[in-house]
Amino acid sequence: MVNVHLQARVPDMVDAVGAFAAIAPEIFADAADVDRNGNFPTGAIAALAGAGLLTRPLPRAHGGEALAVDAAAIDNYAALLTDIGAASLTVGRLFEGHCNAILLVDRYGGPMATLAAEATAGRISGVWNAERGVGVTATRCGNGWQLSGRKVHCSGAGSIRRPLVTAQTPGNGPLMCLVDMASDGIAVDLSVWQAAGMRGTATGTVNFDDVFVADDDIIGAPGDYYRAPLFAGGAWRVLAVQSGGMRQILALHAAQLARSGRGADPVSRHRFAAAAGAFEAARLLVAEAAHRATDATVPPEAAVAYVDLARATFETLVLLGVDAARRNAGLAAFLGPDPLDRCCRDLETYLRQPMLDASRDNAAGYLLARGGTFER
Ligand SMILES: Cc1cc2nc3c(=O)[nH]c(=O)nc-3n(C[C@H](O)[C@H](O)[C@H](O)COP(=O)(O)OP(=O)(O)OC[C@H]3O[C@@H](n4cnc5c(N)ncnc54)[C@H](O)[C@@H]3O)c2cc1C
Repeated sequence: MVNVHLQARVPDMVDAVGAFAAIAPEIFADAADVDRNGNFPTGAIAALAGAGLLTRPLPRAHGGEALAVDAAAIDNYAALLTDIGAASLTVGRLFEGHCNAILLVDRYGGPMATLAAEATAGRISGVWNAERGVGVTATRCGNGWQLSGRKVHCSGAGSIRRPLVTAQTPGNGPLMCLVDMASDGIAVDLSVWQAAGMRGTATGTVNFDDVFVADDDIIGAPGDYYRAPLFAGGAWRVLAVQSGGMRQILALHAAQLARSGRGADPVSRHRFAAAAGAFEAARLLVAEAAHRATDATVPPEAAVAYVDLARATFETLVLLGVDAARRNAGLAAFLGPDPLDRCCRDLETYLRQPMLDASRDNAAGYLLARGGTFER
C-alpha cells in the first residue's frame, strides 16, 4: 500500500495472529516430519522469523510489539500461543521459551539488546532451569560468574545460541545468566531425548564446566527467577500452548468420526460431547488464568493460586479429551500417518510439567482459607 503522507511504499500491517495464520498450514504439515525424524524444527522457526514472530514479543524500544511484555496485549498473545500450539506443540513449546526469556529480561533487567539481535537473526532463546541431582552453580569470578554443573530437559539444546540458564549462587538463590553457547566448557547431549512425543524439541542435557558469564549477561538479582507471580503464574502460557494442542485433537477427532461414519452413533456422540466440553472449559479457564496472572491489581498470591488451580484442572480436562478421541477413533488413533496419534503423544508428553501435585495443593490451601472461592 502507498502511504500518502510519506509518499513511500510501506508494508501492510498484519497483526501477530494474522501473520501466524498465513504460515500455520506449513508448520502443521512440517510437524509430521519433525516427529518422524526427531529433528529440531529449523524450517518452522525460520517461518516464524519470516513472519516477524520472533521479534514481535520484544519490547517496542527493541523493535518489537511488546507482545510478551505488555499486559495490554494479553488477548492477542494468548491467542497466538494457542494457534502455534494447534499447528505444532513442539514449535509452541520452543516459542513459549523464547517469550519467557524476553519477559524475564524485560521484568528484571538485563541484556535485551542481545536477545533482540538473536531474534532479528532468526534465532530463538529459551529458559533452562530444570535439574536432576547435581545442578548448576555460579561462583563469583572477576567481572562475572563461572558456571559449573548440569541442566536437564533443555529444549532447543544445540540450536539455541543464547539461552537463559539459572545457576545457584552461594546462599542467595538462583541467578539468571544469558549464556553464550559458543563459550568454552559447554557440552550438549541430545541422545537422552528418546521421547514418545515432542520429539523435535531437542530437549537435551547440557553440561557446564567452568563456563564464564560476564556481568553484562546477568539478568536481575539472585532469587528473582522464582519471584511471584511471574514464575508460578507464568504457567498460563504453557496452558495456552497446550490448549492449542487440545483444540487440534478435537478437530481431528471430529474429522475421524466424519470419515468413519460413526458421527451418528450415540455412544460416539456422547464421548465427543465430553471432549468438546472439556476443551471449552479448558479454553475459558486458560483465558481467565492469563488475565489474572498478568493483571497487576491481582495480589500475587491470588494470581498464583488461580494459575495453580487452572494447571491441575486443565490436566484432568486434557486427559479426558485425549481419552475420548482415542476411544472413539479406536486403533486408528494409534496409527500414522493420521496426525491424531502424533498430536495425542505430543500433548501427553508436554502435559508432564513440574510440581503439578504441589500446585494443586497450593490452590487447595489458598481456597480452604477463603471458603473455597476466589471471589471475595
Ligand atoms: C517437552 C518438554 C520440554 C521441556 N523443556 C524444558 C526447558 O526448555 N527448560 C526447562 O527448564 N525445563 C523443561 N522441561 C522440563 C519441565 O520444566 C519439568 O522439569 C519436567 O517436565 C518435570 O516433569 P516431571 O513429570 O518429571 O515432574 P515432577 O515435578 O518431577 O513430577 C513427577 C511426579 O513426581 C511428583 N513429585 C515431584 N516432586 C515431589 C515431591 N517432592 N514429593 C512427592 N512427589 C513429588 C509429582 O507430583 C509428579 O507426580 C520440559 C519438559 C517437557 C515435557
